[in-house]
Amino acid sequence: MKGSELRQRFLDYFARQGHAVVPSSSLIPADNPTLLFTVAGMVQFNDVFLGRESRPYSRAVSSQKCLRISGKQNDLENVGPSPRHHTFFEMLGNFSFGDYFKKDAIRFAWEFLTQEIGLDPKRMWVSIYEGDDQIPADEEAHDLWLAYMPAERILRFDAKDNLWSAGDVGPRGPCSEIHYYIGDDPDNQVPEGVNSEDDTYMEIWNLVFMQYNRDENGVLTPLPKPSIDTGMSLERLAIVKQGVFRSYETDLFTPIIHTVMELLGTGSEHYQANSSAYHVVADHSRSIAFMIADGLRPGNEGRSYVLRRLVRRAAYFGQTIGFKAPFLAETITTVIDMMGDAYPELRSKQSYIAEVVTGEEERFNKTLAGGLRQLEAMLPNQADKAVFSGADAFKLYDTYGFPLDLTERIVAERGLTVDLAGYEAELEAQRARGRGAAQFKKGAVTERWAERNLAPTSFTGYHELESWGHVLAL
Ligand code: ATP
Ligand code: MG
Ligand code: MG
Ligand code: MG
Repeated sequence: MKGSELRQRFLDYFARQGHAVVPSSSLIPADNPTLLFTVAGMVQFNDVFLGRESRPYSRAVSSQKCLRISGKQNDLENVGPSPRHHTFFEMLGNFSFGDYFKKDAIRFAWEFLTQEIGLDPKRMWVSIYEGDDQIPADEEAHDLWLAYMPAERILRFDAKDNLWSAGDVGPRGPCSEIHYYIGDDPDNQVPEGVNSEDDTYMEIWNLVFMQYNRDENGVLTPLPKPSIDTGMSLERLAIVKQGVFRSYETDLFTPIIHTVMELLGTGSEHYQANSSAYHVVADHSRSIAFMIADGLRPGNEGRSYVLRRLVRRAAYFGQTIGFKAPFLAETITTVIDMMGDAYPELRSKQSYIAEVVTGEEERFNKTLAGGLRQLEAMLPNQADKAVFSGADAFKLYDTYGFPLDLTERIVAERGLTVDLAGYEAELEAQRARGRGAAQFKKGAVTERWAERNLAPTSFTGYHELESWGHVLAL
């Protein structure tokens, strides 16, 4: 079953259950200064949950464009190596505003997955909130699940997994999640797999029982009416329905990966050896297209800066697999061919998106080129012919924002290694000088860009690339 069909089936199923089909809102939340981006389907209904806004319906269903690259919901570091985390994804969700509550929310979810989509009930696990000082354990949800599941498949978790909110302020509540086993053990009797690093136990759907609001001072008050907010990404539903292990193997991503391979003239061997970098390019091509379509341009502040970071990150990873010139406009063309029917804003802004992204890639390439020239000039001056000085590597970082792993990769081609201790010492000295001077005030720019699991052919080291903050600010 194709991704587009899964999306439609979800909307149709809930429409039949009396839900108004509401279009996705923008990635940029309206009137919500506490959120940089839309992180979930509930964001456009925030004020409805709070009782500050009313709508002509009390049940809604949507497929919402989401971004999780900032604030409380930030998955950027995972993207590439993770088989199921994206920066941009589509969240399928049903909502009740003081209408039905836990019983029907659980029933709808169960019916949709097992009857409408035909998933295997024996692969399912669910979770409930275990409770804390303020909020009791959710025995009600536990008992409701017993109608569908054996008791040993109903697990209890703490607030980290089973008390949901979009941010620090706003509506929240205990939640019940559905996890699906995608491995090949028909018994799948490993409760420890749920909410663990074991990728064969995958969270697919979160049913949030909205009951509280948390204000700026952290005070919890009950919502005017208990409500329902659920979210399941189309990408994860596609993984389980299409019987693959990661979203990049579903029809939502394979055409983008094929485009990358065609542009590079590579085959599946190269892809397997460098899959993280391909995944970053595929993932970011989608987010970049949607962000520009929703009105953003790369820049140095706030949301624009996040977009700049994504374009440069995609361009950089693209270069590690062989791109020499701007390429994102072409991968984005594939994204638009695939998603333009469901999201017409992509089509209407197609040429603008291409122009903006290519311009940003060109600026980024110039920065990289400057650093490369400097590096070439430094090479003949190394005291030890086998070691590239840490001070020079640091200078490249400091002046050109040159990431350490890039320097390592280039000097390795000449048979040199970087003096890491020397580099760290320079970095530490600069940190000491700059402490309190808020060097990276552009936002959270210190995340690692060369992630775990990157293929060894792409990188010779996995050092923290604080320097990216620097490159990106240029
Ligand atoms: P995970 O534990 O896998 O990070 P989560 O608990 O953070 O997921 P929720 O906040 O509960 O996710 O969001 C609801 C649903 O949205 C998830 O059950 C999943 O289907 C989907 N989802 C969440 N984050 C992502 C992401 N980065 N990429 C794709 N789908 C996601
Ligand atoms: Mg998460
Ligand atoms: Mg989770
Ligand atoms: Mg969750």
